[in-house]
Amino acid sequence: MLFDSHCHFTDEGFDDCREELAEKIRSSELKFIADIGTDLETSRKAVAAAEKYEFCYAVVGWHPSEVGRLTDDLLAQTLELYKHPKVVAVGEIGLDYHWEDNPHRGLQQQWLRELLLQAARLGAPVCVHTRDADGDTFDILKELALGKTKVLMHCYSGSAELARQYVKLGAKISIAGPVTYKNARKTVETIQAVDLSDLLIETDSPYLAPVPLRGKQNTPLNVEYVARKIAEIKGISYEEVAEATFRNACEFYGINI
Ligand SMILES: [Zn+2]
Repeated sequence: MLFDSHCHFTDEGFDDCREELAEKIRSSELKFIADIGTDLETSRKAVAAAEKYEFCYAVVGWHPSEVGRLTDDLLAQTLELYKHPKVVAVGEIGLDYHWEDNPHRGLQQQWLRELLLQAARLGAPVCVHTRDADGDTFDILKELALGKTKVLMHCYSGSAELARQYVKLGAKISIAGPVTYKNARKTVETIQAVDLSDLLIETDSPYLAPVPLRGKQNTPLNVEYVARKIAEIKGISYEEVAEATFRNACEFYGINI
């Protein structure tokens, strides 16, 4: 069984094929997916999908690229959704310094701190996005979350050494499709450095399709390629990776099976 720990199943990219995709998921090894919100609207869509599809869980939050529009009231409405029994975490939240037109760094950091404090108050696990912001993300998480709140580093692309530090402080590391790309040296080293019991797998679909489907639309079904790549890197069986990452995801999101 497989668990796609981070995807955007309710993204517009799936609007004309979602039912078809749902049927394919039901007849595959993919048992669960987590649909991740990036603002209030997408968080609400994720909750609606979790109600409609038995294989879907929802994560609600504000992506760092979106926090320029965030207000205390919108945040309160978003976190209110956490009461729903199929909402299993707060996310995605974090820091993204990659895009020049993103909200300025100070504002991103301010909202990340606020989101972490409120998630801790709710006892919610958090799914963290970080891009070109490794040092600041680690410092803020270390100060406010690591060791207190369950933390999942989504689509991890940092160094193996940093991954070790995250794991030492209790975080889990989620590996996505780019591990199958030719330039994935750092992620390969991370997989070698991190125990299977601390790894989750994801697609971040409809983005980031893995090889051999790179350039095409990605779907949650392709999480299988990520599991196969991890098995190859660790020299263990695909089944072992699938089973362990499934268990790790259920445990992280508090899903009893
Ligand atoms: Zn995402």
